[in-house]
Amino acid sequence: MRTLIKNGTVVNADASTRADVLVDGEKIATIGIDLDVAADRTIDAAGKWVVPGGIDVHTHMELPFGGTFAKDTFETGTRAAAFGGTTTIIDFAVQPRGGSLREGLDAWHEKADGNACIDYGFHMIVSDVRDDVLTEMDALVDEGITTFKLFTAYPGVFLSDDGAIFRAMQQTAKNGGMILMHAENGMAIDVVANQNAEAGNTDPYYHGVSRSPVFEADATSRVIRLAEVAEVPVYIVHLSSRNALNEVRRARDEGQPAFAETCPQYLFLSLDDMKNGFEGAKFVCSPPLRPADHQEDLWDGLVRDDLQVVSTDHCPFDFHGQKELGRGDFRKIPNGLPGVEDRVDLLHHGGPAAGRMSPNRWVEIVSTAPARMFGLTQKGAIAPGLDADILVYDPNRKRTISARTHHMDVDYSCYEGMEITGGSDVVLSRGRIVVDGEEWLGEKGGGRFIKRARSREYLK
Ligand SMILES: [Zn+2]
Repeated sequence: MRTLIKNGTVVNADASTRADVLVDGEKIATIGIDLDVAADRTIDAAGKWVVPGGIDVHTHMELPFGGTFAKDTFETGTRAAAFGGTTTIIDFAVQPRGGSLREGLDAWHEKADGNACIDYGFHMIVSDVRDDVLTEMDALVDEGITTFKLFTAYPGVFLSDDGAIFRAMQQTAKNGGMILMHAENGMAIDVVANQNAEAGNTDPYYHGVSRSPVFEADATSRVIRLAEVAEVPVYIVHLSSRNALNEVRRARDEGQPAFAETCPQYLFLSLDDMKNGFEGAKFVCSPPLRPADHQEDLWDGLVRDDLQVVSTDHCPFDFHGQKELGRGDFRKIPNGLPGVEDRVDLLHHGGPAAGRMSPNRWVEIVSTAPARMFGLTQKGAIAPGLDADILVYDPNRKRTISARTHHMDVDYSCYEGMEITGGSDVVLSRGRIVVDGEEWLGEKGGGRFIKRARSREYLK
């Protein structure tokens, strides 16, 4: 099957060019002006942008959390992602405490295999650092699981102490992977959270105020310094505050391989959304939403490349029946927000459409940098030889975000009623049209597991 995309503007991270794009099978074959070639179908992209498919490096499909499961399966979550212009996700496989990495990885392969509609890779959450686990990490890197996430939060569940984190970092320095850190001081946070609950401050809002941005900055600084000594690249996931951003910026100014992502919720939502009684449970995630004045600092971090990536941390729980587990005690609200469908368009809306950054920087943040940093060597640009993951993007389309029309399997939207500019008309995943306007043409199981390359060689 050959598909010709004509008359569009190819927008890559490094340049925008008026050109036609020929897709042959699963790959981009040729890019050129007024291509005169035979094709099985032609898409007219006049007035549209032709951009590489979005890559969301932080999702949690079917994650067990707080006695329940994140609602989207690999099927529903990846279909929603595709509708929103994302054609690759990297999800987090979880090592069960006391178990092996292999057990966790096998479980995640089983969830995704034959179900995912778009391509996917895995990071590995290391929740129990032992000698045998360190050895397993090397084997995983060879299997394309090149990134390991550890936590300074969630004592008793995911938290690793500094010694354990440092050992995992040293191992990763040797095997060529990269360390991902959830950086919040979980021990101190739990003290404040318990004090609030005991004082009768049980509304969702107190989830937010119990997790000070200073606790985030403290943990960010600490893990960056551990990584400095271990001589390993470190990537801070879901960075939410200017306090933590300043720690990353300082390390980068010193020349350290420290990186970070933020998420749409920290760019568009704020602590104010957590007020309004139990309605605030819809916005409970960790790190929490911050006072609104942090948002412009995070946008500035994206423009200046102190933040390299925007991912979603997609981890949806229904308001009814799931978030409600925490009625009367904010500590029991499942942590996480839906977002995998909204990221590419929200970043367009707040980025190039708002005049904050060029279309090229937007492409870099939502696709090219994630591909480069996470070893997705076949993705992240419109270039001959790469996978034909392509969006025919309308930068002028207006639409209103709503749970009534979104495709995520969750009963609310954090952005309900928000009117945004930009949307994908057509979405191709390895050459197949999976979304055409409102129509779903993809298939369950159409996505493939991607064995990722070591990150290290792509970082400098
Ligand atoms: Zn997460």
